[in-house]
Amino acid sequence: MFSYIDHLECTQCGNTYPHDQISKISDCCGKVLFARYDLPRLRREGNRDVFASRDSNMWRFSELMPVTEHDHVVTLGEGGTPLLAATNLQKKLGLKSLYIKEEGLNPTGTFKARGISAAVSKAAELGITGFTMPSAGNAAGAAAAYCARAARPVKVFMPQDAPPANKKESVMAGSELNLVDGLISDAGRIAVAVAEEQDLFDLSTLKEPYRAEGKKTMGLEIAMQLGWKMPDAIIYPTGGGTGIIGMYKGFQELLELGWIEGTPPKFIAVQPTGCQPIVKAFNDGADTAEPWANATTVADGLRVPGPFADYLILKAIRETGGTALAIEDQDMVDAMYEIATEEGIIACPEGAATLVGLKKLLEQGFLGADETIVLLNTGSGYKYLDLIRTVMPSSMQT
Ligand SMILES: *Cc1c(COP(=O)(O)O)cnc(C)c1O
Ligand SMILES: [Zn+2]
Repeated sequence: MFSYIDHLECTQCGNTYPHDQISKISDCCGKVLFARYDLPRLRREGNRDVFASRDSNMWRFSELMPVTEHDHVVTLGEGGTPLLAATNLQKKLGLKSLYIKEEGLNPTGTFKARGISAAVSKAAELGITGFTMPSAGNAAGAAAAYCARAARPVKVFMPQDAPPANKKESVMAGSELNLVDGLISDAGRIAVAVAEEQDLFDLSTLKEPYRAEGKKTMGLEIAMQLGWKMPDAIIYPTGGGTGIIGMYKGFQELLELGWIEGTPPKFIAVQPTGCQPIVKAFNDGADTAEPWANATTVADGLRVPGPFADYLILKAIRETGGTALAIEDQDMVDAMYEIATEEGIIACPEGAATLVGLKKLLEQGFLGADETIVLLNTGSGYKYLDLIRTVMPSSMQT
């Protein structure tokens, strides 16, 4: 069997839409659409054990993925990343069970590969022939790669000061690179306008239903890798929030299928002090976030001043008893060095932010020593060699 996709659903009011037509956001409310699956039927016909017998990539979860035909999958082998026991950090911090989900091993070096693989596959299945992609950097690199693989053109839009690796990988993979004088929000406005004008499909975060389905597989994998158990907490560097939203959705689907038991992990959003709209909204008790003015941080993936799915991020945090906290750029950069020296993982700054968050939450007593905690390293530090140079002690700089 392949996909059990059944319909799309407005995350605001529950209105349903067909899944076999091109959709972006909901017509009713202008909000995020979720893919919904026939879970009762899958529960009768399927079981979780088949996943382990398949190739180790995110398409092993094809029943819970939106693409209906195997041949339509546009893949570079994304997903199937290790959940590494961080034993050295665990000992140092006095914890019993600390893991790092190492998303740096994905194609194009970040977890963006999962979302883009899902979205490009499904859009191509529905007949889309060309794309636009606004991005802080990594999503553009992934879009360029997957569109090359799908033999479809893509125009990418990223801030002028995006990491050099992102510009180079986008050009290498044959996308049309447009540098924007501004932030991802500005890139987004331009990308949408170009898409409308030229009849292209825009892949903006959560403004189409399927990138979240790709990111959902991180949650499915974490449950599977823990022996079909959920951790107590997942610490996530939050920009547009696709990962939190997707993983929460994935755990809920597994629970509804009866393939796991218990309660979903506390979702913990970490943001840099220079761009923390979700942290502020969480602390204010608000259901939506105000756009963050003058967003600055070395972690480009977290420089998202006005996440479109703010209400879904906040919902996932609150419903799971999680929290949101801000951290300093310098601490994040120091944590890159610490993760590398302790665990041999060259993490991206965004991923390193989760370690800073963890330490603060242990200090505050929000997290306890016997909890099973997963840090999400969203990408490889190899894409940030310029930044890494400044991280290393000056005597060792080469
Ligand atoms: C995009 C990105 C993020 C933020 O991810 P969201 O799911 O949009 O919150 C974090 N880290 C890296 C490396 C990224 O590229
Ligand atoms: Zn609606």
